[in-house]
Amino acid sequence: MSSTQETTLEIDLKALTHNYKHLKSRLQPKTKFLAVVKAFAYGSDATEIAKHLQDLEVDYFAVAYINEGIALRDAGITKPILVLHPLPINFKTLIERCLEPSIYSLKILKEFIAIATKEKQQNYPIHIKFNTGLNRLGFNAEEIDEVITLLKNNTAIKVTSIFSHLAASEDLNEKEFSLNQINQFKAIAEIFTKKIGYQPTLHMCNTSGILNYPEAHFDMVRSGIGLYGFGNSEKENLNFKPISTLKSIISQIHTISKGESLGYNRAFIATQTTKTATIPIGHADGIGRQYGNAVGFVFINNKKAPIVGNVCMDMIMVDVTNIDCKEGDEVIIFDAEDHTAEKLANAANSISYELLTCVSQRVKRVFHR
Ligand SMILES: *Cc1c(COP(=O)(O)O)cnc(C)c1O
Repeated sequence: MSSTQETTLEIDLKALTHNYKHLKSRLQPKTKFLAVVKAFAYGSDATEIAKHLQDLEVDYFAVAYINEGIALRDAGITKPILVLHPLPINFKTLIERCLEPSIYSLKILKEFIAIATKEKQQNYPIHIKFNTGLNRLGFNAEEIDEVITLLKNNTAIKVTSIFSHLAASEDLNEKEFSLNQINQFKAIAEIFTKKIGYQPTLHMCNTSGILNYPEAHFDMVRSGIGLYGFGNSEKENLNFKPISTLKSIISQIHTISKGESLGYNRAFIATQTTKTATIPIGHADGIGRQYGNAVGFVFINNKKAPIVGNVCMDMIMVDVTNIDCKEGDEVIIFDAEDHTAEKLANAANSISYELLTCVSQRVKRVFHR
């Protein structure tokens, strides 16, 4: 019998160490490292991952929302935590838990100054985000003067860093666009630093930025996907080890005759005698409906078994007509070797980021240390 007895996400912390060390080897020794652990550390486990990275002495963490930062503080993470997308309703809690906000608009800046002042803060660390082309969050260069005036008129807050985010760092066809973003950021940083009168930390690169634009590492880099084992290109993937393996088992095998249907809405009709395996993982576990009807696949005894019919909430059925297998056998949804999350995601026009972050919290986590 296989050692896997239920749907399990195995997380290899040695692979995490490997990926961290590889990313560090691509940096100048003085460049700081911020580990992005938003979305449960890309669907793995934020607290275990952050603890491991804290032991490896990363300099900074980032999460998207304030509640993710609170969970890290509750788990004993003491390093600084940048909150990339804080919302004013939680600013008081953010200050109480020593989380550091990304400030991306005049509205947010004014609201944060008001709360930091009311909470009697001095030099509370904030990070100013500039938009250089992603057009998602951030100040535009024209707003610098207004930002500086607001900052100079109070002592409750202090700018720890200024940063921006690349829109297409993994796409070398967009190199000109990326270089333009980098130049814009350099110009903004120079003006801002001169006007504010002290030198904040500068950072711009995500994982693909680290790999493709060494000239844009500045004082710190922010890596997520690389830590979890993907370099966003075939060549760079060779330098990384995926940390997660998603496994399950065959619950039941059915043999259906020509003309019979399988699953909800009778989406699959057998054109010949077909052997199917039912697996306890569905869209509520992270296998979206787009993987149904032969788009997605799993591996059983190292053979590829396409998903047949619609993905159910708690189950998928796969075609095992030509696979020697039995109830209780192990099923690989993705692993760190040939059957990566990236390949499965790409089959459904998705990306590793989405498939990884979709693995739901009800899936059991097991850590290999
Ligand atoms: C998510 C995120 C990152 C990490 O990007 P990766 O491609 O996973 O390395 C970095 N910076 C910001 C602002 C982000 O939102």
